[in-house]
Amino acid sequence: PPPPVRRAIRPLPDELISQIAAGEVVERPASVLRELVDNALDAGATQITVKLEGGGIRRIVVEDDGAGIPAAELPLALQRHATSKIASLGELEAVASLGFRGEALAAIASVSEMSLASRTADAPHAMRLDARSGELAAAARGVGTTVEVRELFFNTPARRKFLKSEATELAHGLEALRRHALARPEVGFAVWHEGRLIAQWRALIPDAADPATPPAEAETRAQARLAQRLEAVLGADFVRGSRPLPARRQGAVEVAGRIGLPDHARSRPDQQYLYLNGRYIRDKLIAHAVRSAYEDVLHGQRQPIYLLWLSVPPERVDVNVHPAKVEVRFRDGREVHQAVFHALDAALAERRPQAAGAAPL
Ligand code: ADP
Ligand code: MG
Repeated sequence: PPPPVRRAIRPLPDELISQIAAGEVVERPASVLRELVDNALDAGATQITVKLEGGGIRRIVVEDDGAGIPAAELPLALQRHATSKIASLGELEAVASLGFRGEALAAIASVSEMSLASRTADAPHAMRLDARSGELAAAARGVGTTVEVRELFFNTPARRKFLKSEATELAHGLEALRRHALARPEVGFAVWHEGRLIAQWRALIPDAADPATPPAEAETRAQARLAQRLEAVLGADFVRGSRPLPARRQGAVEVAGRIGLPDHARSRPDQQYLYLNGRYIRDKLIAHAVRSAYEDVLHGQRQPIYLLWLSVPPERVDVNVHPAKVEVRFRDGREVHQAVFHALDAALAERRPQAAGAAPL
């Protein structure tokens, strides 16, 4: 082979930097959906409408009724590393929003045809920005934001080739939306595909906080809303096959949610939802804690169903270890493991063989 030719070191063009970064954040239509819905939730949306075509490959539209983006900031929203969510390292360490890297819109725009239309409450009308041309024009919509993403990976054919069939991409997209919907029962979702309404999860608004409501009563109501949302999103079987996990605090960690009855376990781990401070995550340590708690009530490779809600003070967890933020790092992993194990272990205690005859969970 010919000797390698050394070329001069050169900074990469901006667009290519974004396309490289997009490789980490945008894998398929479902990742676009995750990022856009994260943004809508961060903007305080109460209703989110998603419209898909071609499983999301041809077109994704996410519409929200959140706070909107001021016209003057629309171009900034598309700029890499530009964010309204943090301004300092201190804020990063205590971040409570789903986003903070200021990368998603820039990344998506670099691998699709994207436009952004938005209106804030004090604006006389909406403005629409076309990402490719940079053209800014008046548009018609109420307060909130609409992001439209067309022809994902049209300019990165190597990545487009990795996409599966439209049906498979749609299934992944729906799963991404389910994860959001389960985290936020108080937000309404409507999902359309090819002009047909394929999912609708109505907003379950909590009663106005009444200081006279005892905490136990408030928890019961929140559990009822969660059960209602679970039934709408995953079906009645999930609710029938699971029980509320009463909120339990150990050290800095609070665990709540719903845990599956052993006899409703499944052959695949497809109904296991884990949230940390409102963010869907996957975590080996917590998965291990769950498995350990179920150890003597589940046979073989049976997979419990569950929805676990962990609350940990933000400064005790690093969410900035994974571009898509699906993985996190705990400052004290043992504390988290023990809190999850003990919460589930206590709830499952009555299901154990030696406790036969005890009140059912
Ligand atoms: P990040 O969410 O990490 O800040 P993004 O690239 O996803 O980065 O978004 C950039 C910025 O654009 C956000 O910080 C926010 O100010 C604004 N933005 C994006 N989507 C929305 C939306 N749906 N509603 C209001 N503002 C939005
Ligand atoms: Mg974002």
